[in-house]
Amino acid sequence: MYKYRDNKKELRGKLSDLQYRVTQEGETEAPFTNDNFPKDVGSFQCICCGEELFHSEKKYDSGTGWPSFYEAIQQSKIELVTDYSHMMVRTEARCSSCSAHLGHVFNDGPQPTGTRYCINGSALKFSKKGSKI
Ligand SMILES: [Zn+2]
Repeated sequence: MYKYRDNKKELRGKLSDLQYRVTQEGETEAPFTNDNFPKDVGSFQCICCGEELFHSEKKYDSGTGWPSFYEAIQQSKIELVTDYSHMMVRTEARCSSCSAHLGHVFNDGPQPTGTRYCINGSALKFSKKGSKI
């Protein structure tokens, strides 16, 4: 747990500047910059620790310009934190394994969950290998 939290230096070397700012400092990438993932079946993993967080079958086009999912691979993989920044109350989504900031969660998603995980593409990497799920 939190295996990378104490190792920011290693992450700095591994991640791009934007990836670091998003996952470690909670920044939000500009829309339509990082949602060009392959349309293949596969899984989306945490860019920091590699934990599988979302499956491509639960991804949908929300029109927001950020990768959007209506369900996580397992609810427990996503840590939800109340976020009071920017004069708003929102629900922040973090990676449960390493605490990386991923994005925010809203309740205006499609059925069957009605949930919208609005995730920074910078916080994710796509892998076809996860398609077993
Ligand atoms: Zn992680």
